[in-house]
Amino acid sequence: MNVIAMSVRRAFALPLLLLACSAASAAPPAVTAIKAAHLLDVRSGALVDNAVVLVSGERITAAGSRLAIPDGAQVIDLGNKTLLPGLIDMHTHLTGDPQDAGYSIIAKSIPRITLTGAKNARLTLQAGFTTVRDVGADGYADIGLRDAINDGDVPGPRIAASGPPLSITGGHCDDTMHAPEYKQTALGVADGVAEALKVTRRNIKYGADVIKICATGGVLSFGDDPRTSQYTLEELKAIIGDAHRLGRKAAAHAHGGDGIKLAVLAGIDSIEHGSYIDDEGIKLMKEHKTWLVPTVYLGDWLIDNAEAIKLPPPLLEKARVVLPTARLNIARAIKAGVPVAFGTDAGVYPHGLNAREFGTLVKLGMTPIQAIRAATLNASELLGWTDKVGTIEAGKFADLIAVDGEPLKDVKTLESVRWVMKGGAVVNQ
Ligand SMILES: [Zn+2]
Repeated sequence: MNVIAMSVRRAFALPLLLLACSAASAAPPAVTAIKAAHLLDVRSGALVDNAVVLVSGERITAAGSRLAIPDGAQVIDLGNKTLLPGLIDMHTHLTGDPQDAGYSIIAKSIPRITLTGAKNARLTLQAGFTTVRDVGADGYADIGLRDAINDGDVPGPRIAASGPPLSITGGHCDDTMHAPEYKQTALGVADGVAEALKVTRRNIKYGADVIKICATGGVLSFGDDPRTSQYTLEELKAIIGDAHRLGRKAAAHAHGGDGIKLAVLAGIDSIEHGSYIDDEGIKLMKEHKTWLVPTVYLGDWLIDNAEAIKLPPPLLEKARVVLPTARLNIARAIKAGVPVAFGTDAGVYPHGLNAREFGTLVKLGMTPIQAIRAATLNASELLGWTDKVGTIEAGKFADLIAVDGEPLKDVKTLESVRWVMKGGAVVNQ
């Protein structure tokens, strides 16, 4: 169809569409009332007893203690359980599985990893994570997955997707395992200000909600050092400035102290991992109110399962040094009061085990309510989605989970989520 014919058709189709919408919205949506023994108010940290949450369509209309249930409402009685807002993971790789950390990834096509993503989206949602920020996927697979979930084709969490992460040539997010004759370069590779701007804009063109930058070396890449910075301040300023101007936030993978500081000075919204953060970095992040997204549990799983997933020896060697060091430094950053949002790097370990991060955060000095806030209130702030998710309040999406036991006493209860609702629909467990 030519462009003129298309726009003529659109001009005719639009009034019909508006009519159809107003007809559909005329019928009052059914009300669902969810009852549970307790509800965790993540803002105050208090438990509300005899909780009732009223849901109409996709949204919460009221929440509180002993609310009157309207006539004709569908009632879901969760008995002795505790309701919490749907959890948010700010650092996933849905299109990846742990065994992809080795050479086997070379044989996997973009269509294949996209279907891996569909499987992992379902597991993530069933584990109680109703929203994720997916930071780095080949071939825009994460963006296709996000759209398929939004269209109702496959079950999964709400996704803020980055598309291919920006990387210098040979950097952590380039394809570093190929011999030169394969001439393999990752889609997000961009060197210098001009290329970096081009790739930032291209990612946004193809649907990126957030710009992911690999600012330092990493663990699961060949030939680079996690402690060294990769992008220059000038490049970082260009990428982040453009992302912000175009209404996107930016997240930096950064282990080394220098790379952390450069990204913070360039205006980054979140530092991912933060393994070698030093006192100066801690001070800067507090001054700039930059979020830290530590991903600390993964070390336990990766080192225990390195052989099973055939992790190449040079990568295991790095993991053995970086991951224990990260815990010491993250504990210092938590103690110093750097703002923290919850992230896991799921994909490096199996999706669905995301909640294991809570226990590690508590071991490193957070209280249970601080850890839960990191995965609800704080994460919604970092996403810029405080009007949509993160609390159980009127107007927000009805994204809810229920657990047995007392999450404020034992965050491990969050590893066994018993019931999940996303956008007013109960998720099959
Ligand atoms: Zn990651």
